[in-house]
Amino acid sequence: MARINDNYLKLKAGYLFPEIGRRVREFTTANPDAKVIRLGIGDVTRPLAPAVLKAFHDAVDDLGTTDHFAGYGPEQGYDWLINAIIEKSYKPLGVSLRTSEMFISDGSKCDCANILDIFALDNVVAIGDPVYPVYNDTNVMIGRTGEADEKGYYQGVVYMPCTEGNDFVPELPEKKVDIIYLCSPNNPTGTVATKEQLKAWVDYANANGAIILFDAAYEAFITTPGIPHSIYEIEGAKTCAIEFRSFSKTAGFTGVRCGLVVVPEELMGTTETGEKYSLNKLWNRRTTTKFNGASYPVQKAAAAVYSDEGWKQTKEIIDYYMDNARIIREGLSQAGITCFGGVDSPYIWLKTPGGLSSWDFFDKLLNECHVVGTPGSGFGPSGEGYFRLSAFGHKENVIEAVERIKQKWGK
Ligand SMILES: *Cc1c(COP(=O)(O)O)cnc(C)c1O
Repeated sequence: MARINDNYLKLKAGYLFPEIGRRVREFTTANPDAKVIRLGIGDVTRPLAPAVLKAFHDAVDDLGTTDHFAGYGPEQGYDWLINAIIEKSYKPLGVSLRTSEMFISDGSKCDCANILDIFALDNVVAIGDPVYPVYNDTNVMIGRTGEADEKGYYQGVVYMPCTEGNDFVPELPEKKVDIIYLCSPNNPTGTVATKEQLKAWVDYANANGAIILFDAAYEAFITTPGIPHSIYEIEGAKTCAIEFRSFSKTAGFTGVRCGLVVVPEELMGTTETGEKYSLNKLWNRRTTTKFNGASYPVQKAAAAVYSDEGWKQTKEIIDYYMDNARIIREGLSQAGITCFGGVDSPYIWLKTPGGLSSWDFFDKLLNECHVVGTPGSGFGPSGEGYFRLSAFGHKENVIEAVERIKQKWGK
């Protein structure tokens, strides 16, 4: 009989969202008339911008004509999309990139997972805690870790606690690491890293021959001037960092699927015998072998984000969410709840009032306010005592949820 990849058996069961679902179902069954408001989701709710939708439709129509039919495109993505992103999204940051340094994909989750293909298993990885679970689980699946301990930490991984004490930005590790995951603006904490904080990481990586995997899925939500949108705004990053971006949260593409990876030409790893080798070359090889490109209409829709109209409309949607974030942040603060994030990201990371555990606060919020959020402990042990609320809901619901929380805690 064929052997399975036993590494999968080390994974702790996907517990967080099924458990949330179970508790919400139990509550709604017992309280069928309660109007439950869900602020737990990490999914967008606004429809695609009209200019994006139009481009999407037009591209589908192209496929129905002999003259404009498109079959396989370049595996790396169409130049017209890559160049639009470079011009509109990187150049204004003072970052210049070559077309060959960007790879268009069907989303960032896949990219964050697939990138592990080009690295040896004996690299030591450093992962934040709390964290977007994909980084952790994909390293387990590929066989880089041992078993999980009772806290959920996997053997062999260097965990970097992100707490109030370090402004939720991981500190440089004492032990030498080879691959570092950084996510700014951060999911789940909603906080951002400053230029100085990122510079310290870039300097560490260059000094130690480490690679930073920089997840910038929420860069479009940054409102504070001076906060880096790209790791390449930091001097020296091109020799130590790979950047991931996604159209999912930026432009409502969670169901459409489009993301991108930047692998600079300067970026090198070493072979078994210690020679330098281009990671761009490896990622190109991996992409052309294992991927056949994001679909043509999707890339057309993505390119429309960078048209004048599409850009303006997309920004309006982001502003809508960020206004929700402001409403949540201000409302909770008025209720005496300490919150972080929500200024440069659509997530508010709140400290549970009265020292409740994350799950106890979840139950209380559900039972007494009929509001659903996400327990911080579900993102890692250092998330215990915290709770994530998302600004991706409908404004009326956000306002009502905040009113209910103020009623309960704002005394
Ligand atoms: C949503 C999200 C992504 C993007 O995922 P897609 O596969 O592009 O939808 C990447 N990283 C983080 C941290 C996210 O929250």
